[in-house]
Amino acid sequence: MKNLFLIILISFKITTIQAQIPSEEFDKAKMEYKGTKSVQAKMLMRHVEIWGKITEKEAKLDTAFLKLLSIKVGITKEHLQKYLSSNNITNNEIGGDINSPVSHITVNGKKVFAKYFVIHDVSSPVFKTDFPSNINDESWSFNNVSKWTKKVTHVYLTRTGKSKAVADFSEGLRATKFELKTLGTQSRGLYIHIELVQPRVYPPGNEKNAPVAPKPGFTDAQYDRLALLYICSSFRKSEWLVPAFHANIDQKLNDSHDDPQNFETKKFTDKILEVLSEIKKK
Ligand SMILES: [Zn+2]
Repeated sequence: MKNLFLIILISFKITTIQAQIPSEEFDKAKMEYKGTKSVQAKMLMRHVEIWGKITEKEAKLDTAFLKLLSIKVGITKEHLQKYLSSNNITNNEIGGDINSPVSHITVNGKKVFAKYFVIHDVSSPVFKTDFPSNINDESWSFNNVSKWTKKVTHVYLTRTGKSKAVADFSEGLRATKFELKTLGTQSRGLYIHIELVQPRVYPPGNEKNAPVAPKPGFTDAQYDRLALLYICSSFRKSEWLVPAFHANIDQKLNDSHDDPQNFETKKFTDKILEVLSEIKKK
């Protein structure tokens, strides 16, 4: 009887450990989530279902990517610069000059550079019942980067792989409920934000809250540029940032978001490894 009680106690403890809510796993003294980068990434990249539901206990992340998180960025400025110039990529497209550091916060009087790379989708425009057939083409006007100007993110990234910084990665910005309502101004600079263009359809839901995303959720061109943005921001920190999804950051907070929808984590982490090896060859 006593043993059975113990077993129940242990299994209860395991259940509570597995069901982590990021906002409750945040250490305000250190201004970071608890655990190694791998542990944090597995919590912050859990798949986001329709209506922002998160049922995955931890994200299934590629072993090679998890290994990467624990080592140095390992590319030279020369190689990265050659990669950018040979692909005609300008500073504005990658969130600013790779020679300047990323944004920072202050912890106990010390500069602490950005730690998290937050992936969002714009969840707009919304359509009743169907997506236009050309959402992945240049002809769709929302793939024109000049359409996106609101400074609620660092970078906008269209479905044709075009990107534009509305705020340099060196500029502190807050874009989630957790930063704005829970952590407050001391968190400005801790998170880098990227908005991926993704339209939505309703019903279910309505014009103001359309939950249905296209499948696949994002194009290869978006994963390709997103990987480069991740590499450039990490290069500027001289350390890998931890990728995160908006919905996970704000999980269980009031009015939490449902983005990004239909994000394929493996496509993203594979692209990071692929772009990295291309940079090293330069
Ligand atoms: Zn978002």
